Parts: sequence; C-alpha cells; structure tokens
Amino acid sequence: MHELSLCQNLMDQVNELARKHGARSVSSVKVQIGQLAGVEPLLLESAFTIARAGTIAEQAEMITEVVAPIVVCNDCGKESEVTPSNLLCLACGGNDTRLIRGDELILARVELVVDEDPQTH
Ligand SMILES: [Zn+2]
Repeated sequence: MHELSLCQNLMDQVNELARKHGARSVSSVKVQIGQLAGVEPLLLESAFTIARAGTIAEQAEMITEVVAPIVVCNDCGKESEVTPSNLLCLACGGNDTRLIRGDELILARVELVVDEDPQTH
C-alpha cells in the first residue's frame, strides 16, 4: 500500500523529532497533503494507525489537511494558488509555470508530550 510507506516515512521524521526533544510521547501529527500527491486522506489516516503501532506515537492522532497546489510563474514571477486541473498563472494567464507545492506530503506540526507539559513544535 502506497499510503503505508508514506506513513512509515512520516513516522521516521516524527520519531527523530521526538527523540531530539526528549519527548515521552506524541499526541498529534498534522500532515498537509498536496492535491496532486495522489494520496487519499482517509487511507493515509488508516495507514497511520498501522505505522504508529509500537512507536512513541502509538497514542497520536493524525490530522490531515488537503492543500491546493501553488505555482510560480516563470514570466511574471508571481505565485498563484491554483486547481489541479488548471496550473496557469493567475496574474498574467501564462502557462510557463513551475509547481512549488501540491505534489507532496508535508509534516506540518507534531505535538509532543515532554514530561507533564504538552509542547507544540
Ligand atoms: Zn504570470
């Protein structure tokens, strides 16, 4: 399953963060999913329940947010938030654009439990 390997990759980053901050556990993991990433949020969430088992994030909740693609225009240099079916520059209408967000998973926020105080990083 595609989502499971993505989750294991996210778990590596979460584990690394938790270790660096000496966390006792992880309470939530927020992930932004680009609309062009081809990732189904519900599948990702269910894959997460498998990937988190036996890790420091065993109790963690996953929050997913789908984000629109952003392109930067090679002609006018403006950034536009676009739809997956239309990657034209919104400022000048040009089609010479480069995707800078929208085809990846981003680990947006990890809430760690350090001693008795939850901390946000
Ligand atoms: Zn433009």
